[in-house]
Amino acid sequence: MKAIGLALVIAAAIPMVAAAPLPFTAVEPLATRQGALVRTRLPRPGHDLTLDGKPVPMTRDGAFMIGIDHDAGATALLAWTTDSGRPARWPVTITAKAWDTDILPARLSMPGPPNPEYDARRDRELGAVKAARADTSPLPFWQARFIRPAPGRISTNFGAQRIYGDRPAAPHGGMDIAAPTGTPILSPSPAVVRLATGPFALEGNLVILDHGLGLYSVMMHLSRIDVKAGQIVAQGEPIGLVGATGRATGPHLHWGMTWLGVRVDPATLLTETPQ
Ligand SMILES: [Zn+2]
Repeated sequence: MKAIGLALVIAAAIPMVAAAPLPFTAVEPLATRQGALVRTRLPRPGHDLTLDGKPVPMTRDGAFMIGIDHDAGATALLAWTTDSGRPARWPVTITAKAWDTDILPARLSMPGPPNPEYDARRDRELGAVKAARADTSPLPFWQARFIRPAPGRISTNFGAQRIYGDRPAAPHGGMDIAAPTGTPILSPSPAVVRLATGPFALEGNLVILDHGLGLYSVMMHLSRIDVKAGQIVAQGEPIGLVGATGRATGPHLHWGMTWLGVRVDPATLLTETPQ
């Protein structure tokens, strides 16, 4: 009986499989690297775009971006439905990046005694950061080439692996630009200011900028903030001054970027123009 049942199931399934349209598959994989932000457009227009099952916001004309995690594996898959109703896919190939390594004295990461007051403060601060990135605006501000927000030497690259003694810590989530206190910080692209506050325990005075479709910048350790939440800033508009507020060993700008919660390397926005 079991065998007959199975045969019926297979027989019933075959016509459905045969009727489904064959997927459109892009000939060339989308080649990128760990930590990159890729700005591109669909080779066939459509809707319901996903990256490994995660919904990817897109403009009406099919432009979108994807952020590749610091620890992403060698491949990923973009999938969508074309305007003619055909499933479509675009394989993504991801090159591993050799990250910098910073070895620091073990004493710098010694856990302090329990401090409920500090913990409550961090909960409030991290809640404010999360709320600032809660909405994904449809702004196309991410579609131009970005500019450097401050002059100066890059003192720590995105992704640098910090090792305290022999204990690895979280990789560096942004680009550090060493510059004297008081150096103006410019908006790297047009944006809506979502948070302009501080000083927070680690970030110091900080500004979060919304570039649209889930892409945000965070500027940390400012000595002065010159913008307010809700304000729209142009590319190159001053937003504040470099400082050393929060946890910083000297004056510098920490510029972090996230795409839908994935930390990406700001350097890829400076060197790559969207396709
Ligand atoms: Zn930093």
